[in-house]
Amino acid sequence: MKEIRVRFAPSPTGPLHIGGVRTALYNYLFARKHNGKFLLRIEDTDQTRYVPGAEEYIIESLKWCGIDYDEGVGIGGPHAPYRQSERKELYKAYAAELINNGHAYYAFDTPEELDQMRERLKAKGVATPQYDAFTRSEMVNSLTLSADETKAKLNSWSPYVIRILIPENEEILVNDLIRGEVNVHSSRLDDKVLFKSDGMPTYHLANIVDDHLMEITHVIRGEEWLPSAPLHVLLYRYLGWQPPLFAHLPLLLKPDGNGKLSKRDGDRLGFPVFPLKWTDPFSGEISSGYRESGYLPHAFINMLALLGWNPGTEQEVFSIDELIGAFSIERVGKSGSKFDPEKARWFNHHYMSGLPDKEVSILLGNILKEKGIEVAHEFLLSVSAMIKDRAVLIPDLWDQSHYFFVAPDSWDEKVVQKFWKPETPALLQKLSEILTNTDDFTVDNIDSVIKGYIHDNGLGMGQIMNTLRLALVGGSFGPGVSAIISVLGKNETLTRIDKAIANVGN
Ligand code: GLU
Repeated sequence: MKEIRVRFAPSPTGPLHIGGVRTALYNYLFARKHNGKFLLRIEDTDQTRYVPGAEEYIIESLKWCGIDYDEGVGIGGPHAPYRQSERKELYKAYAAELINNGHAYYAFDTPEELDQMRERLKAKGVATPQYDAFTRSEMVNSLTLSADETKAKLNSWSPYVIRILIPENEEILVNDLIRGEVNVHSSRLDDKVLFKSDGMPTYHLANIVDDHLMEITHVIRGEEWLPSAPLHVLLYRYLGWQPPLFAHLPLLLKPDGNGKLSKRDGDRLGFPVFPLKWTDPFSGEISSGYRESGYLPHAFINMLALLGWNPGTEQEVFSIDELIGAFSIERVGKSGSKFDPEKARWFNHHYMSGLPDKEVSILLGNILKEKGIEVAHEFLLSVSAMIKDRAVLIPDLWDQSHYFFVAPDSWDEKVVQKFWKPETPALLQKLSEILTNTDDFTVDNIDSVIKGYIHDNGLGMGQIMNTLRLALVGGSFGPGVSAIISVLGKNETLTRIDKAIANVGN
């Protein structure tokens, strides 16, 4: 069987939307599943839409997600270069071939003439005026000019474009792996520009030429490209090439209501729509990213994988290998999937609590380093083990653990009011003495020492536990008191009790 070859072909016009990441992911999963190849091609022929930094952003995003490619920009491969602006020279011949076999033509219309045409049609009640079978005969092109006139214009360097000659009255069939047969009547297509006199092809020409030359077998891309597919089918036919198989992925929809998920939804509802933070090079505007917000790449990928594809079972949590094994285009739905920011958090919490303590300690250690806090490795590991299932995002690791590293300086007033009684200092003092004489600081032993003390003195649980916790963490939060004491160790525990006795309630 022919090797399966798929590609992700973004245009560097800004940061990659999470919908784009999902397109890349599905291509990647499909390639890996079938032992095929996954390519990254940068489609940068439209120089007017080029945004500096966007290409680097795309590459870094894929890297962060763990979506690695076999050929492409940055790593090369048998069909290099993979950046279309560097392939510029090779497209012209295909545009010329289309002209020679009568499927394309030169058009010399000025922007003003094009405007006039649109106005004329609008005045006649045409809703979407376009350059097509209906209008091309009234325009300045190699169909209306004589061969000599055309040659003269070309020789005098008049600006021109090359347009496809869309056939009249023909049903064009697009076979889509997700949508089945999609029939489009040629009267609905316009004579799209394929090539411009600045020497650059447009997206349509460059895209199909490269998919052909790069031996792409499946084009898996967003639904927004479905309207272009009939044109692409024609171009393959006119160039005498076998078209690839198409699969147009459903849209990612707003969490609330209908319509495509946009950056504005993210701003409005407080979640990122980009994998990484992005600073717009022109306006300086900053958009948040999943990485910087503290998501784990695997959680992000797992969440994205299920937006549009379903495994046909109840399973939600998938390792990358499981995703590769389970993925199939047949199980990608036709209708859009609502994006659910809460589900993204759910996945992150799931993966965070399942991380090995060592990995959590690296994440937490990075936060500590930024804050200039140095701690012993063993201590960091114990804290990490204790708090990892309390954190949803990476910054939560600090919010859930800061009191282990920085002793409280202030004590929650509400807790003080409620639990700190005139007899509290003496009670804590007595407990402190018992702890001083305790050597076994395992959680179980500390637990029985404290409970024994409470019982022997006829005290209430709440009376001691709430004030002890207040002394240790400064408030009413955190895991079990004995567990905290066990991790803090004897010295630190006694110091904190002393400090609270000396300061609280005064
Ligand atoms: N350059 C197009 C984009 O930015 C690629 C579309 C396709 O995959 O054919 O999405």
